[in-house]
Amino acid sequence: VKPVVALVGRPNVGKSTLFNRLTRSRSALVADFSGLTRDRHYGEGRVGDTPFIVVDTGGFEPVAKSGILHQMARQTKQAIAEADVVVFLVDARAGLNAHDHDIARLLRKLGQKVVLCVNKAEGMQHGSAVAEFHELGLGLPCPISAAHGDGIADLIEHALEGL
Ligand code: GDP
Ligand code: MG
Repeated sequence: VKPVVALVGRPNVGKSTLFNRLTRSRSALVADFSGLTRDRHYGEGRVGDTPFIVVDTGGFEPVAKSGILHQMARQTKQAIAEADVVVFLVDARAGLNAHDHDIARLLRKLGQKVVLCVNKAEGMQHGSAVAEFHELGLGLPCPISAAHGDGIADLIEHALEGL
């Protein structure tokens, strides 16, 4: 059984860019995911010899003025529940955001394994890219650049560790 990695975060942090990078060498999206809800964006990735399923959630799209957790589609909560590990993306260039705090709180409450991933970190020193995100209380943040491909293998190895 392949581990399922859900990509979660507020809009524009780079979830789809990371999804495309993780899955782009696959010839096709995986057609059949028995036991998983179908109507989301699934693909297959591989690190070394280890294949995994990756889910791109778009459920944090902005709607009106209500809090981000109210905006979160049921589908996203379901994707989190179905995942073996959640990769929670934040944006090194935009910095820490109130919505990041809201999502972090929800993820801690749900109790899933979470890897905090600081995207758009290309050209930044790792220490300074991740510094402010420690306060989310989700452990050591992994700096990556989904657009440039930096740090992706380390991120996935860390996410799949122990699964
Ligand atoms: P999503 O809404 O979380 O799916 O975010 P997208 O993948 O659509 O990316 C939002 C924007 O961030 C786009 O303009 C991307 O080109 C940009 N982006 C994504 N990853 C990176 C990155 O690693 N570095 C930089 N500088 N921009 C990025
Ligand atoms: Mg997207």
